[in-house]
Amino acid sequence: MTQTLRLGRVAGIPVGVHWSVLVIMALLVQGLATAVLPTSAPGRPNWVYWATAVGAAVLFLLSLLAHELAHALVARYYGIRVQRVTLWLLGGVAELTDEAPHARADLFVAGAGPLTSVVAAAAFGGGVVAAAVLGAPAVLTAALVWLALINAILAVFNLLPGAPLDGGRVLRAILWRIRGDREQANLVATRAGHVIGLLLILAGMAEVLSTGQLRGLWLGIVGWFLMSAATAEQANARYRALLGKLPVRDVMNPYPLSGNPDQSVDDFTRTVASRAHHRAFPLRDWYGRPAGMVRLADVARVPIEARPSTRLGEVATRPDLVPVVAAARPAAEIAPVVARSDLVLVVEDDLLVGVVSQADIARAAELARQP
Ligand SMILES: [Zn+2]
Repeated sequence: MTQTLRLGRVAGIPVGVHWSVLVIMALLVQGLATAVLPTSAPGRPNWVYWATAVGAAVLFLLSLLAHELAHALVARYYGIRVQRVTLWLLGGVAELTDEAPHARADLFVAGAGPLTSVVAAAAFGGGVVAAAVLGAPAVLTAALVWLALINAILAVFNLLPGAPLDGGRVLRAILWRIRGDREQANLVATRAGHVIGLLLILAGMAEVLSTGQLRGLWLGIVGWFLMSAATAEQANARYRALLGKLPVRDVMNPYPLSGNPDQSVDDFTRTVASRAHHRAFPLRDWYGRPAGMVRLADVARVPIEARPSTRLGEVATRPDLVPVVAAARPAAEIAPVVARSDLVLVVEDDLLVGVVSQADIARAAELARQP
């Protein structure tokens, strides 16, 4: 997921937010300041509600971040690499590069998030008690009650037993432990995610129809996201089952036509792009190391008269933004990475030895299906 705003690093893990978080924050602040707080603590000046609402929304965002960081830190404890943590529309995602090594790690990584939300709910609940004892202003108590409730809801919602929700991962870990087959467990968990997504959509529609208010739409949107995420995970699970331990080396295109960052766009177009039936090409530096990727669309944007004087490296995607994988890694593991990128570069001893596209993965899966 693209991070619109990078917040920095926590324990070495890049943390950022997607723009959709700002929309949610605005909706939360508005709802708190105009409805929740004035109802529970009436008779205050407007600015008190708005200031408290902003503070509560920021605290909510921080508890969301704590939830995701808990996943990420437990993952790292088990040696699973964490790419980044991103907060977005429906909460957050901790993007893990590797799979859990065993069922227990899978269980603890998945459980850490909801557990953190439960702890946050309890802490804010404790805050409510403290506020009551100390005789704090009612508007503050109302904000703390809201924070305790929303964290509790977050924990419960995330524990619904369908992947990619945390509860689905917990289910997967338990089935994996009992039956000893990770892929089968994963398939069951993603199917459950599909069903839960569908149920949420139906519940949302029922709410809209019965109340005549659009609030149920929200539930429907969440259900739709869950369903499409479950579908994507199911495709990955199927790849895993088919490709097994087949390494990237056996799936990749080992003879990709490539460009050089110092070459002119004109030269590249004549010698490489016009000869190959591809839309994206890897770049190789003089030593044979990966040096980025260029799409036909990038080249097409350069006016014809400027092509002889424009270096390919100027229009290409920078090497640090193109996914690179080792040739020895299992191909099934990189299927999600390939699905998110036009091209994945394959390296061995720092040298570019091939590329993998979605078509290569699909082709390998179809070959594997043959009896
Ligand atoms: Zn979670």
